[in-house]
Amino acid sequence: MFAEGQRLRTEHGDDGVIDLSLGQPLDAPPPVRDALARAAAESFPGRHAYMPNLGYPELRERAAEDVDSAGVTAACIAMTGGAAGAICLALRAFVDTGDEVVGIAPYFPEFRPYCETGGLSFIPVRADDTNQRVDVDALVRALTDRTAAVIINTPSNPSGHVIEHDEMAAIVDVLEHYNRRTGRRILLIVDEAYRNLVYAPARRIEPLAYYEHTVLARSFSKDMGLAGERIGYLALHPSLANERTDRGLESCMRALGMVNAPATAQRALLQLESWNVGVDPYRVLRDHAREAAVRAGLDVAEPQGGIFLWIRSPWPDTLAYVSALAEHRVLVTPGIAFEVPERFRLCFTSTLERLSRALATAGEVAGGVPQ
Ligand code: PLP
Repeated sequence: MFAEGQRLRTEHGDDGVIDLSLGQPLDAPPPVRDALARAAAESFPGRHAYMPNLGYPELRERAAEDVDSAGVTAACIAMTGGAAGAICLALRAFVDTGDEVVGIAPYFPEFRPYCETGGLSFIPVRADDTNQRVDVDALVRALTDRTAAVIINTPSNPSGHVIEHDEMAAIVDVLEHYNRRTGRRILLIVDEAYRNLVYAPARRIEPLAYYEHTVLARSFSKDMGLAGERIGYLALHPSLANERTDRGLESCMRALGMVNAPATAQRALLQLESWNVGVDPYRVLRDHAREAAVRAGLDVAEPQGGIFLWIRSPWPDTLAYVSALAEHRVLVTPGIAFEVPERFRLCFTSTLERLSRALATAGEVAGGVPQ
């Protein structure tokens, strides 16, 4: 879709194409841009030098405050190149080559290469399509004597589902039962790349309160619009933080070639008085996009968080429908990319006007004859 978008833009100009296929966040809000400018202007000895692999100590303290969960201190934090870096770091540090990692489909497509390039097998399990919750029976069936980690993503890209209290409790029950039976200890990786983009009445639950062997991956790419600056962190449950883990994480940061998270992005986070930047612009777009989708007669999963609509294809052949939309110069991502072929993903970080036009087109094409 990326290549198709470029081709169509060359042919029809930027305004002639509505590309909602990529998960591009909104631009960084003014306080974040100011913090970056101040960070870039800072000058002191060692400002551009190597630093401790897990990040500036004072920033790790700020990140621990950001996690805001009992017992989490700077010792539980590794600053990383985005949530991507945090997930890869967790996989490299805690999971052995040859082990299996279970994920929930639809899933962020990069999970598979994160695992496979580290010699791990990625095993997807379908979520319940009626409510996008984890299908606990399917999760039980997916666990084998090689399972080392389960990765969940809340809010989900692409479904927008936010994991709820009873759902989390049920997942953890499964893990505890497995641990008791096998003597192993499954790592729960919670990808919270969209942590602050949760829309009421949905609420974030604190994963660290449920299960000890848990790590969180946080990103500043989305709520702060810093995707290109590559900044995030991995937060460990306090029970995992110790001298040995520290050494292991440091070695893995180097082995992964990250060495440390980018210095200027780290300094910018230190410059920011608060990490709670307003997410109202996202909420406005979410409401508008969802209403436009419903008006167009489309069946859309409740977008409780994140930046996407997860829509059932109105045609039996999703790829044919997505291609028909592309002919009308509206680009979305077919669900096959997330291993759920009967749906497609639409990113709503556009303008209200373009979202209205795109979803009206999606409705009109839906009523046409499937090819
Ligand atoms: N996890 C999910 C679910 C995502 O959607 C993304 C980016 O789109 C990432 C992780 C990676 O985020 P980052 O830019 O912080 O590496």
